[in-house]
Amino acid sequence: MSLPLGIQARVMLAAVALEPCCLCGGPSNGAGIFEPGAGESHLYGVPEGKQRWCFYSLCRSCQGEADAFDRVEAHLQTLCRGVR
Ligand SMILES: [Zn+2]
Repeated sequence: MSLPLGIQARVMLAAVALEPCCLCGGPSNGAGIFEPGAGESHLYGVPEGKQRWCFYSLCRSCQGEADAFDRVEAHLQTLCRGVR
């Protein structure tokens, strides 16, 4: 029996929140979920039409950076490339 998707997402967020910041390696201040948009799936190693959620953590300092989410997307693309 698997957990409902919403519960799985919360469990993953809690687990990722304990990881260091994905941009600088500093202590995490929270976690987020990124879902590639339509037409972007291939950038994250996912066939078109297949859903992928990417979980990440950020420290307080990086959360305040204006380009933080652009950097997170670039980081996730690098991380997910080739992963199916
Ligand atoms: Zn950081």
